[in-house]
Amino acid sequence: MTMQRNADVPHCLKAQSSIGLYLHVPFCAAKCRYCDFYSVRYDSGAAATYLDAIKREFDLSRNERIIDDCVELETVFFGGGTPSLLSVAELSALCRIIRNSFTLAAGYEWTVECNPESFTEEKSAMLLEEGVTRLSFGVQSLSNRELRLLGRIHTAERCGFLRENSLSAYSSIGVDLMYGLPGQTFDDLRNTLGEILTFPHLHHLSAYELTVAEGTPFGRHRRLLPLPEDEEMSRMTEGLWHLLRNTGFEHYEVSNFAQPGHRCRHNEAYWDHRPYLGLGCASHSYLHGRRFANVPDLQSYLDLVENGYLPRAFIEEIDPIRMASEMVLLGLRRSSGIDTLSFIDKCGIPFDEFVNREKIVEFVDRGLLSVSGPFLLPTERGLLVADALAAALI
Ligand code: SF4
Repeated sequence: MTMQRNADVPHCLKAQSSIGLYLHVPFCAAKCRYCDFYSVRYDSGAAATYLDAIKREFDLSRNERIIDDCVELETVFFGGGTPSLLSVAELSALCRIIRNSFTLAAGYEWTVECNPESFTEEKSAMLLEEGVTRLSFGVQSLSNRELRLLGRIHTAERCGFLRENSLSAYSSIGVDLMYGLPGQTFDDLRNTLGEILTFPHLHHLSAYELTVAEGTPFGRHRRLLPLPEDEEMSRMTEGLWHLLRNTGFEHYEVSNFAQPGHRCRHNEAYWDHRPYLGLGCASHSYLHGRRFANVPDLQSYLDLVENGYLPRAFIEEIDPIRMASEMVLLGLRRSSGIDTLSFIDKCGIPFDEFVNREKIVEFVDRGLLSVSGPFLLPTERGLLVADALAAALI
């Protein structure tokens, strides 16, 4: 943990007028069995203290000249944890902190992550009123057997509100889905997906393969979990991708699909290495070539902020090699690929000198990559193995 006042802080953001803002809400109603994100059980007293601390962290950031009055927010993202678990009054207060502290850019995107069990009409109306433009729902599955197994506390029936007309007032509605679940078959996944695709206001879908993380209940009982075999996993991934592409979704990143005009701009800013500020415990920031993270522990966060310290866990410089590696890795996970001409502008290294050119020729011959003008693009088959391709090129 780094106690940080005046020394060693990133420069003022004056020169960068547009940034993204991520605000972490660390509260959950219960812990899902696969989850290794930082979260604690919600209680209203802790939530009130946390909201005060967020405001204080913002003031500290401004006093330390990490951000300045001139900064505008292109995108805002309330993530967690479970932001929708906050009460109407708490959510409204959080929105007010943002509105009173920052200028929102014209055409901004403002996303709030919601879980089905804690989302209500009242919260929806209030968020809309406060200027939120986009809701992202952690549905994960529409099989009650799978939801129970994952330790999710909502049911498939509870997700029925996703058919409500009131959601059409938002610019974008997204759903998160998980697959590769214990005991799941391709047919199970197809049933869930088929039903999700009947939601009338769906614009965005993120589909993640289950990761069994160390230190979680799933991680501890890994050997007992009837995880799908590799062949079934491939069927699921390819079947899911095929179905979504055939229903008008752009497959714009390995795990992300959007109706035209509905990509998540906040995530795209991360992948483009555009600047963003994180507020709240466990949040990350990227400003002026430095990445820094806040402490992933609520009490430490509250103590540091209360005592006038920026609550940093670490600060790291992103040197040219690291930047170039990340650009290859993130670029090959996206349908837009890598702009090999402007590569040098961001990382200072010519693309041709950084990557293994023989491998590129080989992967193009094998139909895993293609070249279009200055762009190196993953093909549909290439996206399936994007991380391996990037590792080979670097
Ligand atoms: S709701 Fe999300 S953040 Fe909370 S425990 Fe479950 S997966 Fe983790």
